[in-house]
Amino acid sequence: MENFVFHTPKTVADAVSTRKGTSGGKFLAGGQSLIPVLKLDLAQPTDLVSLAGLKKELSYIKVEGDELVIGALTTHADVAGSDVVKKIIPSLAVLASGIGDAQVRNRGTIGGSVAHADPAADYPAAILALDATIKTDRRTIKADDFFKAMFETALEDGELITEVRFKKPEKAGYLKFNNPASKYAIVGVYVAKYGPNVRVGVTGAATVAFRLPDFEAALAKSFDPKVLDGIKVSEEDLVNERDAKADYRAQMVTVFAKRAVEAAH
Ligand SMILES: Cc1cc2nc3c(=O)[nH]c(=O)nc-3n(C[C@H](O)[C@H](O)[C@H](O)COP(=O)(O)OP(=O)(O)OC[C@H]3O[C@@H](n4cnc5c(N)ncnc54)[C@H](O)[C@@H]3O)c2cc1C
Repeated sequence: MENFVFHTPKTVADAVSTRKGTSGGKFLAGGQSLIPVLKLDLAQPTDLVSLAGLKKELSYIKVEGDELVIGALTTHADVAGSDVVKKIIPSLAVLASGIGDAQVRNRGTIGGSVAHADPAADYPAAILALDATIKTDRRTIKADDFFKAMFETALEDGELITEVRFKKPEKAGYLKFNNPASKYAIVGVYVAKYGPNVRVGVTGAATVAFRLPDFEAALAKSFDPKVLDGIKVSEEDLVNERDAKADYRAQMVTVFAKRAVEAAH
């Protein structure tokens, strides 16, 4: 690990301007992804801008109209245990409760998870299925425009996520087939129904989270797991590793999408 300068801003404005003043700095939230990256020397930031002092400003869960609004520094444990989340989007509390272990859930934040865009992380599936918007210090980014590639998002250099806004679905369910040690998703599928429309977000299966238009169209006609039988998931862009080959992941996408629909019911 290389040396770096450690900053402790107390407000969003201060954090953004501090980060802007560095040549190769990074924000540090819960550190559950960034610290391992630093320990493995996969990144050498000149500065770490800690977001710990922004907790008061950016740790909250509230409802505004038909949206569930979660501050970027809200931990996975807070989402998992929130009565508001359990009432408005129970499947999101289920998702958060299945992330890593108790330590990861108590340190890791929703903003950090979304910014990191790990291909096996859980939240990306929810972001896509629940038609979320990601609010930053300078703009609002739609779910479908956010995840670009493996560990790559639409965020500009030094852009800070301040909150994530999820649209309340009529029904929704999330299920994953996870790595037994880390709990990262080998395949995770989030299904959400909005009146006549259905959105399906998939994580873990490919290098970036994606939607499944064929599944969405079939489920929009009938929100029944059986309608997914016979719709082939293309293996072309799926991760093909020894432990879980692309053809296997394709099958798991269908299996877990069906279970997510059942869970939604
Ligand atoms: C053992 C282990 C198991 C795990 N299992 C799972 C799992 O099952 N499912 C899962 O989804 N995840 C899992 N994770 C990852 C965990 O959820 C992390 O909390 C999350 O990926 C990163 O959040 P963080 O707050 O720790 O961010 P950090 O590690 O502090 O930061 C991650 C990246 O995001 C940037 N960043 C942080 N906050 C912001 C912000 N507000 N705006 C802009 N950029 C920001 C940082 O600069 C950094 O590049 C696991 C991690 C570990 C160590």
